[in-house]
Amino acid sequence: MPAQDETPAPPGIDVTNPSIARAYDAVLGGKDNYAPDRAVADELMKVMPEIRELAWDNRALLGRGVRYLAREAGVRQFIDLGSGLPTVENTHQVAQSEAVDARVVYVDNDPIVLAHGRAILAENDRTAVVSADLRDPEGVLGHDRVRDLIDLSEPVAVLLVGMLHHLHDDEGPKRIVEAYMDAVPSGSHLFLTHFCRSGPDAEALEKTFLHFLGTGRFRTRDEVAEYLDGLDLVDPGLVYLPEWRPDKPVEYPLSVRERLMIGAIGRKP
Ligand code: SAM
Repeated sequence: MPAQDETPAPPGIDVTNPSIARAYDAVLGGKDNYAPDRAVADELMKVMPEIRELAWDNRALLGRGVRYLAREAGVRQFIDLGSGLPTVENTHQVAQSEAVDARVVYVDNDPIVLAHGRAILAENDRTAVVSADLRDPEGVLGHDRVRDLIDLSEPVAVLLVGMLHHLHDDEGPKRIVEAYMDAVPSGSHLFLTHFCRSGPDAEALEKTFLHFLGTGRFRTRDEVAEYLDGLDLVDPGLVYLPEWRPDKPVEYPLSVRERLMIGAIGRKP
């Protein structure tokens, strides 16, 4: 039974099974999700009642990180891999509020992202939404819209925010990260956030993700640090989300929720 305020499904979108993008939208409290997605969000909430706050912690860091990249690092090109459905403070809005000439390409393999993204971006010629599988770096970087907007001889910010934990080990996430970072020049940045294997609560949440969504690989701090190999970490390094250049003082000890994700920005020397 659709919820009363449910957005009708765009043509060609299968809403009989949950999708990562729509389940995340449901966790955030958005409207572009359907009963199977909300069922996943409910299961996650049973195990981690503060999952919504965690998702918003991640969005907040996305904003702080993009602001840093545009304002302090001077980056003008962004590839947002696994961008998800548009919500508030999207990458192009933050980047272009800092630098009007910033160019942003969103990449996601969920057709709902393209359907909703196109509408929101229709009037902005410095932003594009590309439907592609990020596990194919050559295909993504060779895509017409990516080539139109991203000049690979100039520094690029590669965003993998809330994304790499959706890749299983046998999909070669490190090799994928390396392929993108090898393709961009010195002065480029990698910006990532990732679920952290920080204790029993993380393990319970990981099990729920894997059972209901089929992905969600929590990694140790050392495992996540490997994605940043060869890059110069921007201060304060790889830390829990609230600790990365916070807008307000951090209160210690951090809560269980605040220790479920870590994030970092690394600069290619
Ligand atoms: N980056 C956003 C954020 O942090 O707010 C959204 C994160 S959302 C949890 C993960 C996104 O990655 C989903 O929209 C999903 O569709 C996308 N995704 C998962 N696997 C992908 C793949 N192989 N290629 C492209 N996108 C993928």
